[in-house]
Parts: sequence; structure tokens; C-alpha cells
Amino acid sequence: MAEKLLNTQLLIGGVWRDATGGRTIDVLDPATAEVIGHVAHADKSDLEQAALGAAAGFEVWRSMSAWERFGVMRKAAALLRERAQDIGRIMTREQGKPVAQAVIEIMVAADVIEYFGEEGRRLNDELVPARVRDVEQRVLRRPVGVVAAFTPWNFPINQIARKLGAALGAGCAVIVKAPEDTPASPAELIRCFCDAGMPAGAVTLVYGNPAEISEYLIAHPVVRKISFTGSTPVGKHLAALAGAQMKPVTMELGGHGPVIICPDADLDAAAERLAGAKFRNAGQVCIAPTRFLLHRDIASSFLEKFKAQVSALKIGSGLQEGVTMGPLVSERRVKALTELVEDAREKGAELWQPDTPLPNTGFFFPPTLVSKPTLAMRLMNEEPFGPIVIVDEFTELADAVREANRLPYGLAAYVYTRNERTERLLGEALEAGMVAVNHHGIGAPEAPFGGMKDSGYGTEGGPDALKAHTIIKLVSSQHV
Ligand code: NAD
Repeated sequence: MAEKLLNTQLLIGGVWRDATGGRTIDVLDPATAEVIGHVAHADKSDLEQAALGAAAGFEVWRSMSAWERFGVMRKAAALLRERAQDIGRIMTREQGKPVAQAVIEIMVAADVIEYFGEEGRRLNDELVPARVRDVEQRVLRRPVGVVAAFTPWNFPINQIARKLGAALGAGCAVIVKAPEDTPASPAELIRCFCDAGMPAGAVTLVYGNPAEISEYLIAHPVVRKISFTGSTPVGKHLAALAGAQMKPVTMELGGHGPVIICPDADLDAAAERLAGAKFRNAGQVCIAPTRFLLHRDIASSFLEKFKAQVSALKIGSGLQEGVTMGPLVSERRVKALTELVEDAREKGAELWQPDTPLPNTGFFFPPTLVSKPTLAMRLMNEEPFGPIVIVDEFTELADAVREANRLPYGLAAYVYTRNERTERLLGEALEAGMVAVNHHGIGAPEAPFGGMKDSGYGTEGGPDALKAHTIIKLVSSQHV
């Protein structure tokens, strides 16, 4: 049976509708390159209505108690879990990742939403002892206002869930500019909130021209905070626009994940876990391990094990049973990766790819190991954001740390070692917002998630993510 077309509308003022001018953008299946639907393209009048609707929604949402807000968020999370299989299939059709990975993403998103709903109930006010008798100093945390959230296509639901969860939990309304490449699964996420009783305008959903929407919304007086996930150049541009308006931002940007594999590491575990972390979502993950720095004594033994893992990947449409790696999201990404690998090859790199056949439709790109890298290669300096591994060797740990910290990126870094002292040393020395040792399980809703340097600022996990959506206010009263 032919699959249904995926047509996605805007949600403005609590109403699902087409764009005023009727404009749409095609949505492609990355496994076949066929058009599988259309998404509404908002124009300026839609954006103005979105801002006004969000202002009205904010007044209703902020006036509810944290307990009532938690009720809506918990219900939305429950609906998301109930619908995970259906929404997972929609995500795979437009984004490409295997359905099993899409379903995991959705289940994690439900946890994130529930966590932030709960955390909102713990957003306590404080009393600061005054220096003068009869004076009471109350410190209030209140929602910052309407948040404009810009999210990318690699985790169409989870990237939104983190922003939506933290903002809604703090009592803010949110205008989501979701990804045009993968619009239908985000809309299903938002539908869960509508069906859970979210007041009209507390969540708004728009699509269109990303630059036009961000310029319009960031400058709009209704919008009080900006949250963006995506590439570093775009993040810097949006942070500058927000700075000109004196609006706070949370920025979750690119990475170039170094992995240091020490001579005492468990190489079987390292090979298996790194293959899992590298090739999930076809490597289109901001925290993906990318620069493998191998101690010279174990390099060939590790690579043999790692290549066996890579050769076992089953590449194909994410809708097919047993497939472990799908296509890239778009032709644009295939072109970008092809250019990076070609540049490395021309500059003397050695390439290795498994024999696994690739489908001859859509936007597939093979897992690729690049060895003998030099600093002149673009790959050594630019985030590949795909199934590419750079392999290099070291003898002294200090050299590995220097290479790991060389780039302006500072998102996630990984270490494999059995030595607790090395673990502690590298935990301190690596310039990354997140360091994981012997595993890749970062991203729990209750733990910080964010980067340093050019990888951005602010966090998208834990209580600080919620607090970043509040303002602190002092009310000092002398009782007469
Ligand atoms: P891109 O830089 O054009 O876009 C990245 C994201 O930013 C997209 O979702 C896009 O819609 C959005 N965007 C672009 N310009 C914008 C603007 N002016 N205002 C608001 N949003 C805007 O690149 P791309 O080809 O989609 O992806 C490639 C690069 O993006 C990758 O190399 C990677 O560095 C980065 N990326 C990072 C993440 C992440 O999780 N940190 C996710 C997706 C993409």
C-alpha cells in the first residue's frame, strides 16, 4: 500500500492552518529522493500572527500553577509514548534514520518533557535575610517570556523536546521554527501537546525561510529569549542578532568529538561502543566521536576490531527491518561530505570503506575512515557531521590532549582507559562541555548538555536549563 503524503501545516494561535499565501516547500524521502509531502512556508503576516498568538498564550500558561503545567506536560509525554511507533515511521520517512532509532529518540523526548515538567515544580522562590529588621527580601524566579526556538533536522523531535521542555517547565511560551527538511514528525510532537490540553498559543509552530524567520522573530518585541541548535556560523549570526536586542540566548552548536584511546583500554568494548556512537543517525550527531586518537601500541589492534564492526553495518532505507544505518538527510549533505573526503584524499590521506553495498537511490554515503591526516585537510578543522572517522596516532598523552583541544570546538570528548588516574586527568584537561569515559551515554534529561568555546553556551539539560528560561527578580519590602 502506498504511504500517505506527509503534509504539514503551521500552528498559530492554537489553530493548524496553511500559510497565508499558500506557499509550501517539498519534503523528500532521503532514501529515495522522492517527494513525499509538503510543508507550509510562513510569510511575514503569519510570523506576526505567530508572535501575537504566543504573547496571548504566554499570559495563560504563566498564570497556571506549576502543578497544572506539569499535568499538561506529563500528559503530552504519555501521548508521545503511546504514538511512538507511528511517529517513528513518519520520522524515518522524512529523516532517514532506522525506525528503531527514531522510536528511541521519541521515548527519550518523552522523558525530557516529563523531567522538565517536574523540575518546574521545584522552581522555588527564596528569602534572603535582610540587614534591617522588618525588611523582607524575596527573590522570585519568573518565566522570561516568549522563547523563539530554532531546531535542526538531525533529531527532529528530541532537539525540540529539550527546548520546549525547559521553556514550558519554566512557564514560558515557545515559538518553534522546526526544520523544513523534516517537518512532519515535529508537528506530531506538537500535536501531543495540543491533545494534552496545552492552551492556545503556548506552543506555536512555524516553517519557512530560516533566515527570514529568525531575523523577524529575534527582533520582535514579544520574543524575550532565543534558543538555537545547529552549526557554529549560524549560531554566531543569531547570537549577534540577539545581542543587538539585549536578549539572552542558549546555543547548542557544532562539535568535532575527539576520542583518546589509551594503551590500557578495553579495545573490544571501545570498538563496539564507538561504532554504535559514530554511525547512529549516519553520524549526523553533534556529539558524535570524530577524531580517533589512538595510542601507537594499540592502534592496529583497535582498527582491526573497529573495521569489523563497521563492515557489519547494514545500510539501507531506515524503514527496512535490520538496517542499522540509513541515508544522510539531503543531497546537500552528500555533497558537503564528498568534498571533505576528496580534499583529504588530494592532500595525502588514506581512505578505507567497507565492502557493504549502498542502495543506488537517495542520499547514501558510505562509512569512511580517513587516516594519515594533516592539519591542512579541511576535515581536520571542519565538523564533518556524517559517517566519517579520522584516525591518528599518539605516543605521549599530552600530545593527544593538545590535539583534542586544538580546535575551537568544545562539545563532547571521549576517553577509553582502565586507569582511574588517567580518567580524572583527562576529565579535567579536555576542553569540552561533556567528557565521557568508556561509554557514550551522555544526554540524560537531568544532566547538563552543552558545549564551550565555539560549540556554544548554556545547557539543555538539568535544572540550569530550566533556570536559563527565567528572570530573577528581587522584591524587597519593609513591613510598616
Ligand atoms: P545549515 O548551517 O544551513 O543549517 C543548520 C540548521 O540551522 C538548520 O536546521 C537550518 O534550518 C538552520 N538555519 C540555517 N540558517 C539559519 C538562520 N539564518 N536562522 C535560523 N536557522 C537557520 O546547515 P545544514 O546543511 O542544514 O547542516 C550542516 C551543518 O549544520 C552541519 O555541518 C552541522 O555543523 C550543523 N548542524 C548541527 C546540529 C547540531 O545538533 N548541533 C544539527 C544539524 C546541523
